[in-house]
Amino acid sequence: MKLFGNWKMAQSRQGAQSFAADASGYRPDPLVESLIFASCLQIPEMMERLKDWSFGAQDCSAELPGPYTGQVSAREISEFGVKDLLLGHSECRAAGQSEELLKRKLERAKEASLRLCYCVGESLQEREEGRLWDCLSRQLENLENCSAEFCIAYEPVWAIGTGKTASLERIAEVHLWIQAKFPKVPILYGGSVKPENSAEIMGLESVGGLLVGTASLKWESLEKILELASLEAQKRRQRAK
Ligand code: PEP
Repeated sequence: MKLFGNWKMAQSRQGAQSFAADASGYRPDPLVESLIFASCLQIPEMMERLKDWSFGAQDCSAELPGPYTGQVSAREISEFGVKDLLLGHSECRAAGQSEELLKRKLERAKEASLRLCYCVGESLQEREEGRLWDCLSRQLENLENCSAEFCIAYEPVWAIGTGKTASLERIAEVHLWIQAKFPKVPILYGGSVKPENSAEIMGLESVGGLLVGTASLKWESLEKILELASLEAQKRRQRAK
């Protein structure tokens, strides 16, 4: 079971330090792969403070290192000992990242041996106009010949940060559809996940984990979701025996 947090640009330095102080006693469950995508500035300090945890970057440049002011290369990310990268988040797509640009970012990530969590998901308009499968097919195309290690996060745009969660039927339907295209790839769900709804979402067999935004900012809410992830991972292990 994967439990990934996304702090976006919403975590202050003081907030990250409080999180680290609160989480310092926690020993990660080997059955739950926990990781936080944090701001590149916060990652080194967080890695120092929470040595048992993994931290990933939220984006990388599509360019090789060179004269690109303001950008962060995949190589720099990996030079800091970071192994994971979030790509294709809908907030980045909304800010203008096209499939073509994401394809080049994927290549940079692969060259730097970064593992990817690649986000896909439809907008409300695409869903209402019956374009869900077209949208997902287009967004997943970049992964078809991708030789980097990756997992996929299905995050309906209308569910991110809105308090609205996709129904269990919808999550299962989309996850099974993606799974048919990428049979060996873990598929996470993201979109307003919180302690109250996380157990039932993780209870779906096709859900390989969660990508949690707002509820990952504070240790008290992430800890509850981590405990539920451990329970679900144990149930799955029992079933597999
Ligand atoms: C996200 O940022 O990927 C996300 C799912 O956010 P939230 O949990 O706040 O909806």
